[in-house]
Amino acid sequence: MRQLIAGNWKMHMLRAPASELAREVRAGAQGLACDLLVCPPFTAIETAAAALAGSDVAVGGQDCHAKGQGAHTGDVSAAMLRDAGASWVILGHSERRQNHGETDELVREKVLAAVEAGLTPIVCVGETEDQRVGGQETEVVGWQIAGSLPKPFAGVVAYEPVWAIGTGRTATEQDVATMHAFIREELVRQFGEAGQGVRILYGGSMRPANAGALLAVPHVGGGLIGGASLNAEDFLAIARAASRG
Ligand code: PEP
Repeated sequence: MRQLIAGNWKMHMLRAPASELAREVRAGAQGLACDLLVCPPFTAIETAAAALAGSDVAVGGQDCHAKGQGAHTGDVSAAMLRDAGASWVILGHSERRQNHGETDELVREKVLAAVEAGLTPIVCVGETEDQRVGGQETEVVGWQIAGSLPKPFAGVVAYEPVWAIGTGRTATEQDVATMHAFIREELVRQFGEAGQGVRILYGGSMRPANAGALLAVPHVGGGLIGGASLNAEDFLAIARAASRG
């Protein structure tokens, strides 16, 4: 299966630089043997989608509301993302879980809303530093998978150890191998044969310098990239690493 390289632009990029970055990604994406996705903030989705129209680079949101519409001031529905040009959405990112108190149950409801609107969800799971120090990483991630993914699940899982996000600290290849093998086992245990086909991304300080090694680990189906996705050269270098596999 082709690997997926997804850029999470977080709360960065006004529309003009978003358009420029999207154009640079588009220009460098030709001929790559991986799937490419950029996830701008809400306000730049339409701009990025216009810059990428007719290309193989997809556009996604970074969150959506669990309801289709209603009195939810400041929120955005999955259908609104779709209407703005998105075809994917990141859900349950650790920054949403930590800063907005999102629970596994809420993430599962959002996944259902996303699929209903025609979006492909990327559901993030991962342990905190304390949980890893306490040896609870597999238990925590197993519960997150059980609680956040509806059955059936037609999407992607991203394993993002919280302590590696935006810190410059990357999980070792051994950590990634152990966790991705565990997640695959859990997916198969919880979803049967369908669990074999779910792509499992790694996210957490992935850079051009470490991407080749991380993307070569068994069961790694691509990367979710934060900081390095804000620079086309770095993002495309990671995409080239994914295309070599
Ligand atoms: C992320 O936030 O999903 C992420 C992986 O960020 P970074 O690459 O900056 O660690």
